[in-house]
Amino acid sequence: MFLRQYFNRHHTAMVQMGKADFLKANLRLILAWPLLGLALCAVLWAATMLQLEAEKKVAQQQALDNVASLSKAYSQYLLRTVEQMDQLTLQLKYEWEHADGKLRLEQLKTRGMYAMPQFAIVAIFDRKGHAVTTTAPVQRLRTSERSDFLLRHWRSNSSALRIALGKMGEDKAGGGEAGSLVHFTRRLEDADGNFDGVLLISIHSAYFSEFYDSVNFGKLGMSAMVGEEGELLSVRLGATVLPPQGAAFLDTSFLDGDSGAMQSQGRTAFADAQSRYVGWQALKAYPFTAVVALADTQVLQPYQETRTIYLGIASAVSLLLLAFTCIATGLSLRLAWRHHQSEGVRNAYRMATEGTSDGFYIIAALRDADGVIIDFELVDCNEPGADFFGVRREQLLGMRLQSRAHEPYFRDLIHNYRAAMVSGFSEEEIELAEGNPFKLRWIRRRLVRSGDRLAVTLQDISAAKLHEQDLRRLANEDGLTGLPNRYWLQQFLPGALARAARDGHMLALLFIDFDGFKDINDTQGHAEGDKVLRAASLRLNAVLRPGDHVVRLGGDEFVVLLDPVEDDSRAEQVAQRIATAFDEPFYLGPERHKMGASIGISMYPRDGAETDVLMKNADIAMYAVKTAGKGHHRFFQPALFETIRHRRELEQSLVTALEQDEFLVVYQPRVDTMSGQLCSMEALVRWQHPQHGMVPPLEFIPVAESSGLISQLGEVVIEKVCQQLARWKTYGLELVPVSINVSARQFGRGDVHQVLASALARHGIDARLIEVEITESAMMDEQNRAVEQLAAIRALGVRLLVDDFGTGYSSLSQLQKFAMDGLKIDRAFTMELGRSEQGEVFVRAIVSMAHALGMSVVAEGVETREQLDMLHALQCNEVQGYFISRPVPAEQMLELMLKRFLIDHPARARAPYALVL
Ligand code: C2E
Ligand code: CA
Ligand code: CA
Repeated sequence: MFLRQYFNRHHTAMVQMGKADFLKANLRLILAWPLLGLALCAVLWAATMLQLEAEKKVAQQQALDNVASLSKAYSQYLLRTVEQMDQLTLQLKYEWEHADGKLRLEQLKTRGMYAMPQFAIVAIFDRKGHAVTTTAPVQRLRTSERSDFLLRHWRSNSSALRIALGKMGEDKAGGGEAGSLVHFTRRLEDADGNFDGVLLISIHSAYFSEFYDSVNFGKLGMSAMVGEEGELLSVRLGATVLPPQGAAFLDTSFLDGDSGAMQSQGRTAFADAQSRYVGWQALKAYPFTAVVALADTQVLQPYQETRTIYLGIASAVSLLLLAFTCIATGLSLRLAWRHHQSEGVRNAYRMATEGTSDGFYIIAALRDADGVIIDFELVDCNEPGADFFGVRREQLLGMRLQSRAHEPYFRDLIHNYRAAMVSGFSEEEIELAEGNPFKLRWIRRRLVRSGDRLAVTLQDISAAKLHEQDLRRLANEDGLTGLPNRYWLQQFLPGALARAARDGHMLALLFIDFDGFKDINDTQGHAEGDKVLRAASLRLNAVLRPGDHVVRLGGDEFVVLLDPVEDDSRAEQVAQRIATAFDEPFYLGPERHKMGASIGISMYPRDGAETDVLMKNADIAMYAVKTAGKGHHRFFQPALFETIRHRRELEQSLVTALEQDEFLVVYQPRVDTMSGQLCSMEALVRWQHPQHGMVPPLEFIPVAESSGLISQLGEVVIEKVCQQLARWKTYGLELVPVSINVSARQFGRGDVHQVLASALARHGIDARLIEVEITESAMMDEQNRAVEQLAAIRALGVRLLVDDFGTGYSSLSQLQKFAMDGLKIDRAFTMELGRSEQGEVFVRAIVSMAHALGMSVVAEGVETREQLDMLHALQCNEVQGYFISRPVPAEQMLELMLKRFLIDHPARARAPYALVL
């Protein structure tokens, strides 16, 4: 979460801050496409212009050639036309001179001669200038022009053809057309060669530009026939014939030489300011020049069209280039921006992840032409990421996974990445097998898809996992032996039962409790006890098959689980093998420990279907073994259940009672038989059970004894008694001894004297205020252990009493060697007093023998006055029983202590000082 926030913050910051930087960094890229576009445009336009220039040159050259050849053609045409006129005038002159004045032109015209439209007028003038014969009225001629050619021919005796420009006469009554004319004239002579008139053929000047029609000169094209003096004889502009000289349309001054072609500068050359290509060619035999001019616009029309097309194409291409440039710039900028962004993202992520110890990688999917992922490439990673592989970052970048697909880790990885490319996300914890490329044991791998990439985070969770494993192991394992523990069994057994149910096989649960372990633990100390337990667990394991489980429940309780087991006999075999294994003592250093095994067996499904029931039943079977005798095994039997369950539960609740301090001690006074005075008291333990109320000792002492809890209980009683004595002592009372019951089993541990001594010392109690009661059987049992300890107890100054005397089989002589201080006659004998002769005989014998051995005698269970009186008579030293007092709590005991005289004795009653009290 933190990482993500961090990442987002940094990312946005980087993106914002990055725009200016990005533009600066990518300036070249930004300019590249436009520059390339510009360059291409320039090349395109240069090529286009060059091409156009070339085309134009060609077009211009063509135009020049064109006008040159046109002018040649035109000059040819003119030449032919003028020659024709030359011939016609010659012919007419000849005919006239030989017709002897009888030639009539009017008649010739009606016959079709000179009837063509170009002939404006054909006439013959006499020497006085009068028209002799004519094809048209002479009024068509201007008078000035007529006198001009008459005069000229009169003056000059040349017979050559004269050509002059003229106009139609002002007088148009003759019905002639308007326009300019070209007069072809010849001198007529008489036989003597004197002037005899003039022959005239006048042609419409338009005729000379008839040539024009055959060539398309266009509207602005011009053809002109120019005279010697530069005068325009015939000018045609487009379809119209211009009046000669009229508008001085053409400045002929530039026509240099006989022939040529050039481009005119319109403004100066032509009146219409049109620029034209001009070609000219002089006629060979006549003083004329044929001029042809074609308008630039027309001549260069194809070029202009080409040019338009070229420019159009160039513009279109330029536009395309522009568009392409824009798109390319846009696209590449976008690409660069994306790249920049992803770089930024990557950097940010790396920055964010570099601080952590997590490995971070960016993986790109590589696809074939069909888009199928064929490989993955490591595009980026952070330092910790490289560190996991034990290499430097640079070594890892660009790595292809397929190249390492032979390694199991990478094979799995590729599979995983493929899946993540589909699902978009995956997270798992992986325990790495041996031979993996990492230096790690456990990793958490997180994959997030982004486009065609995967962001991979690896976290080293080895420590956490090992810790977790440790915890799990600790929770499931017994620290002392390394065996699975009770918790493990509770987790494991339900599953095992379910499997057995499914597969229809049996299970056996062997509940093992070691006999004598508590003694070892109590006498040799916990360290030694631990050693024995470890050795015992090894022995257990040694006799089992590998599939069987040994579990330590706690203390010296073990469970063996046979899963599966064929039948009862197989379970029994195992139990026997275990029992046999424990026949042999444990030799640990100098110590030798004998420890048997009690084994209770429950079978699934016969003895229960659930964990708890099977455990309990195996435990009960074990308990049955323990109570019945030791060192063998027993199958659970429902009949055992009720009796033993109670005992077993009692034993288990005794443990709790000790922990919860549910025990208290009551006191029953002992009274001096002679004086009736309180002389001692017996401490009797009570169990204040939270549910069952006061539990009498006869119900729980035997259980405490058989389970070994009696030592602990004994210590509690000693402690409580000493504590009570100390309290009474603070009240300033005259204290009397308190006798404490010690079981035979308590000597097994061998430290009763130590417990006593330390309690006395701790509470500052005089040893003479404590007495110890032990049964006969306790003295006989346990070899000589009791003897030594009793001597040690006595050495403290504690008096020893034989409890329940008469119930055992010991003789007084046997008691001698124990150096006891007194006897307590069992209640059974006291009860006989007054009932049978035997009782009295028995008590009398005991008293006399005890006294002879220097021991005092206490009679227990005195319930009647009669018994008391008899015991008094039999000189029994002390009495104890309900007749005097039931056992009472310490507070009540205090009252009795203050009272001191507890029996209303006849002898005492008579005593004078008794009255004082
Ligand atoms: P015990 O040592 O023989 O104790 C005397 C028992 O006789 C006591 O029973 C007492 O209440 C009972 N009693 C006393 N006077 C009379 C009487 O006039 N009539 C009858 N019917 N009973 C009388 P309690 O307290 O139930 O103790 C039973 C036994 O439990 C004791 O027998 C003793 O063996 C054992 N016990 C009691 N306290 C302790 C203890 O602190 N340690 C050990 N090891 N054993 C104890
Ligand atoms: Ca007793
Ligand atoms: Ca007794």
